[in-house]
Amino acid sequence: MLEGLEELLISADLGVETSLRVAANIAEGRFGRRVSADELRALLAAEVARILEPVARPLPIYPKRPQVVLVVGVNGSGKTTTIGKLASQLKAAGKSVVIAAGDTFRAAAVEQLAIWGERAGVPVMKAEQGSDPAALAHDALARAQAEGADMLLIDTAGRLQNKGDLMEELAKIVRVLRKRDPDAPHNTVLVLDATTGQNALNQVEVFQKVADVTGLVMTKLDGTAKGGVLVALADRFGLPIHAVGVGEAIDDLSPFDPDEFARALTG
Ligand code: GDP
Repeated sequence: MLEGLEELLISADLGVETSLRVAANIAEGRFGRRVSADELRALLAAEVARILEPVARPLPIYPKRPQVVLVVGVNGSGKTTTIGKLASQLKAAGKSVVIAAGDTFRAAAVEQLAIWGERAGVPVMKAEQGSDPAALAHDALARAQAEGADMLLIDTAGRLQNKGDLMEELAKIVRVLRKRDPDAPHNTVLVLDATTGQNALNQVEVFQKVADVTGLVMTKLDGTAKGGVLVALADRFGLPIHAVGVGEAIDDLSPFDPDEFARALTG
C-alpha cells in the first residue's frame, strides 16, 4: 500500500521527497491494517490539507498607502493576467489601484496589460519600449503617492536566460522604489504556472535569490495540471499561497482553499 501511495503522489507532482514523507505520515500507526481506497483518499486529502493550511493566506492588505506589490515570474507564467485579475478584485473591493507595465522590453506584454487595465478600470503606466523599468517603477510610485492610490501593482520582465541581468534589473527596481518609500515593495509575489510541474521548485529558488519573494500565486489550475507541486513548495519553502488562477477571464482568480485543493488532488 505504501509503495502504491508513494507512486501516486509522485505522479501527482508532489516530488519524491514530499511524497515519501506524506506517505510515511499516512502509513504511520496503520501497519498491518487494511485500509479501503476511500479511506486512503480521505487520509491523503486530510494530510495534504494539513500541510497547506498554514500557507493559505490572501495577499495581506496594509493600511499604509500606496501598498506596492512587485509581481515576478518567468515569461508566460501568467503575471500580466494575474495583475489584471488582481486589479479588478481590488477595484471591486473599493481600492484605488495603479498598474505599472514594468516589462518594458516586450511590447506585447505592455499592450496586454493596457487591455487588462481597461477591463478593470485601472490606469496603466507605460514607458517606451526598451526604456529602464526602474525609472517607470519610480514614476509609477510617484504618481500613486501623488494620487493617494491604495495599491501599486508592478509587472516585471521574466527573462531567466540571463539571471545576472534579471537580478540587476529587479535589484534596481527595488532600490529606486525604496528611495520614495523605504518599506517598498511591501509584497513581492512570484507567479508560477501549474503546468511546469516540479520546475516550479527551481523557479522559487531562482527568484528567492534575485528578489525577496513574500508570496506565491499559482496559475492554470483549470487545466489538467492539478498543481501537486504546491504541496512540495509548502513543505520546502513555507511561502504564503495568496491565490490561484483558474482560467483566462478577469474573474478567474480564486482564494487558495486547501481543503478544496486537497480533494481535487486526491480525486
Ligand atoms: P506573463 O508572460 O507571465 O505575463 O503571462 P501572461 O499573463 O501573458 O499569460 C500567459 C498565458 O497564460 C496567456 O495566454 C494567459 O491567458 C494564460 N493564463 C494566465 N493565467 C491563466 C490561468 O489561470 N488559466 C489559464 N487557463 N490560462 C492562464
